[in-house]
Amino acid sequence: MKRKYEGLAIGIDLGTTYSCVAVWQEQYCRAEIIHNDQGNRTTPSCVAFTKDQRLIGDAAKNQAAANPQHTVFDAKRLIGRKFSDQVVQDDIMLWPFKVTAGVNGKPMITVKYKNQEKQLCAEEVSSVVLTKMREIAEAYLESPVKNAVVTVPAYFSDSQRKATIDVGNIVGLNVMKILNEPTAAAFAYGLDKRINCVEKRNIFVFDLGGGTFDVSLLTIKDNVFQVKATAGNTHLGGEDFDNRMVSYFVEEFKRKNKVDISGNPRALRRLKTACESAKRSLSYLVVATIEIDSLCDGIDFSASINRAKFEEINLELFNECMKTVESCLTDANTDKSNVDDVVLVGGSSRILKVQQLLQDFFKGKELCKSINPDEAVAFGAAIQAALLSEDIQNVPKLELQDVTPLSLGRSLVGDIMDVVIPRNTCIPDLIEVYEGERTRACDNNLLGSFEIVGIPPAPRGSHASEVCFSIDENGILTVSVKNNISGCQVKKLIQEAENYCIYDKKFLKKSKAVNALDDYIYKMRNALKNEEDINVKLSTEEIEKIESAIAVATNLLSENNQQLEAEVLEDYLKGLESRMEQIIAKTV
Ligand code: ADP
Ligand code: MG
Repeated sequence: MKRKYEGLAIGIDLGTTYSCVAVWQEQYCRAEIIHNDQGNRTTPSCVAFTKDQRLIGDAAKNQAAANPQHTVFDAKRLIGRKFSDQVVQDDIMLWPFKVTAGVNGKPMITVKYKNQEKQLCAEEVSSVVLTKMREIAEAYLESPVKNAVVTVPAYFSDSQRKATIDVGNIVGLNVMKILNEPTAAAFAYGLDKRINCVEKRNIFVFDLGGGTFDVSLLTIKDNVFQVKATAGNTHLGGEDFDNRMVSYFVEEFKRKNKVDISGNPRALRRLKTACESAKRSLSYLVVATIEIDSLCDGIDFSASINRAKFEEINLELFNECMKTVESCLTDANTDKSNVDDVVLVGGSSRILKVQQLLQDFFKGKELCKSINPDEAVAFGAAIQAALLSEDIQNVPKLELQDVTPLSLGRSLVGDIMDVVIPRNTCIPDLIEVYEGERTRACDNNLLGSFEIVGIPPAPRGSHASEVCFSIDENGILTVSVKNNISGCQVKKLIQEAENYCIYDKKFLKKSKAVNALDDYIYKMRNALKNEEDINVKLSTEEIEKIESAIAVATNLLSENNQQLEAEVLEDYLKGLESRMEQIIAKTV
């Protein structure tokens, strides 16, 4: 593998519901998960817009119930899809935020930011989360980060992968490689448990997250990870289980109280949060309770659900997962009895019924739970990033051979799909361009070749959208790979992302200035109080001076002066400090 990236490189699991970032620590020869500013090792993939700021991660998720229409989550479920897509339509019914069709049927999310309506595409929302993940890493590493390996569900289509690269471009992050999530998890598992594995081992990775479900069968031998087959559903996961539970309780609320909350976004959001937490507790409790004060029309909601009921309402979805497991093994031409390790990844793999169905499928085989299901993907991405970095030497030489998740083909007369590259073909695939009339390619004249790494290769010599053959008047051939979003669009998005960052920084600066001035008002009030309490004598003139300064400063911080720039407050505080320093010093 060519190492061509200089400087620090990180691995980012840009998940549908939670994201996670890791870095290879050369001195310890291991990858490390980086905690965020709240001390959490995973960050909600959530972005919220309010009348005066943009919130990302925990801060956004925590205020979701109070601001449901402008708190965007699950953006990854929209990435690379059209508005008319049935799965998009189904999701829209359940989301509190507004999604409409934009140019070329691209789904656009409408939010209100600083009292103005704005339309964002899924790539923009994801780019905000990506920026946050990069900032988390930069804060920890105390250094700028330019390069990252970003993971995607193995079952992501070509346009979804390209859209993910665009997300990186928008924030100026160099996406070194798009790595499949189960493959990344297999790296983590392999490095941890199966390093220098001499005997060939068949590893089955089962990754059930918040919004996507992915399985892969890999073989590991001598540190070579070869993906045999991959299958999945980019629209199945914990969110769907939560939604089913929400519908169940909406019905119960209707029955008990004759009130339908299905049109009330705030109530639905609060119910969903409660359902997610109930679902989590059903992974270790038999019954979970839900208590929500004043859910709708002042009515409190108190209900419970037992594990059996939860399993019943979701059984259809769990069974769908098992069908995917089966089809992956069929594609890999491997019998289930030949699978050596079944590795659990993704938060929803903690669901007991899922584990039981999987264990039954593999005839009672013990499932591997030794790696952290929330962190394995980021961990593997960091290993891959280290392998691609020029500056990192001390990393085990793992090698990867991946496959295409979906068949690629061209349309023949009569709307027939002519498969050129069947699904589960090894990548990277070398595209070679020949000229000549001979049947065997090698008897013709090789004009050139290029390799598509990390994204499924395009059909050779076809008119499919991603590879374009064009011949100019001189008969000179150009073969190019087309981007999903046009360069011009990406430029615009980069500009907008920068504007957001400038505003975020400005907002932070203003908050600091407001706090500093507020602290000083407190200090001045204390000085007056101390003057009374401990009888330090200040002259009447000095007392008046403090009182009038308190009045001016309080006014500066009042609603009427919200538009003031941070610099005005900072300058005022500076002047105030120099004027008051000596007076205040007398009272402490
Ligand atoms: P993604 O990669 O799609 O962002 P994750 O792998 O981070 O998803 O998993 C998040 C999902 O896992 C959420 O839907 C969350 O509710 C679910 N989850 C986390 N812990 C548990 C648990 N103990 N039991 C059931 N579901 C869980
Ligand atoms: Mg995941």
